[in-house]
Amino acid sequence: MFNYDAPESLLTGRVILITGAGDGIGRAAALSYAKAGATVILLGRTTEKLEAVYDEIENAGYPQPAMVPLNLDTAGEAAYVEMANMIDSEFGRLDGILHNASLLGQRTPLENYDPITFDQVMRVNVNAGFLLTQALLPLMKQSDDASIIFTSSSVGRKGRAYWGAYAISKFATEGMMQTLADEYSNSGNIRVNCINPGATATNMRSYAYPAEDPSTIASAADIQPVYLYLMGPDSKGITGQSIDAQGDGSPTDFV
Ligand code: NDP
Repeated sequence: MFNYDAPESLLTGRVILITGAGDGIGRAAALSYAKAGATVILLGRTTEKLEAVYDEIENAGYPQPAMVPLNLDTAGEAAYVEMANMIDSEFGRLDGILHNASLLGQRTPLENYDPITFDQVMRVNVNAGFLLTQALLPLMKQSDDASIIFTSSSVGRKGRAYWGAYAISKFATEGMMQTLADEYSNSGNIRVNCINPGATATNMRSYAYPAEDPSTIASAADIQPVYLYLMGPDSKGITGQSIDAQGDGSPTDFV
């Protein structure tokens, strides 16, 4: 596991947006960021799940969160601009984005892959990340210490049979991260990196590996050290990296 002991108030005063915050790894990240003092903005497509995470954060006495119910599959440019305006008027700042929401799509040879599913996976896993980042960059640029984290996968580094659009979308995610990191490499205040969670017990993992016993792999809470490290000030200067949440802590340099 990535080795990092986060100070208690690591993210105090920061405002952080998390996509897919209602479940799985996104939910765990929202809780750990809020626990570390951040005001978290919970984005997801299922309002009841967002409300449950919202309540959990409030009941724990962490900073009051906000919710953005939004379907990344259907949202257009205007919806992202509207969200950016809302964040600006409500909070006046944004210090972090965790791009976490993804669709798995089909597990089938590309020869048989349904083109409609292919489009949908690319829209949610890639296009939404671009549109959301583009709309929020003006706010991120105003932060003293801004961190953008994308979520990759081992199949986004080496293609694997039957992982279809998901694998292709994760290669695109690595590419988007590298491109953006290079564009802001001299900014002094914006870093952009990827996390590869590794096998983690969530709905997506159960769907991909139905025969696996979830208690034999890491939980979403277990993998939080790297999520905290990359979002907080201790990773200042680290950019363009793709880091394994369950690795030994050495960044994989793709440059
Ligand atoms: P889950 O499927 O458990 O959670 C994904 C979250 O994304 C859910 O909250 C889901 O919402 C949300 N989401 C999906 N589609 C949309 C959409 N169209 N609009 C808004 N929100 C959406 O996945 P994980 O927690 O396992 O995965 C999190 C990230 O980690 C993903 O990027 C995944 O690719 C990556 N990953 C996971 C691994 C693992 O072993 N779990 C391994 C490698 C990478 P809802 O709850 O409403 O469905």
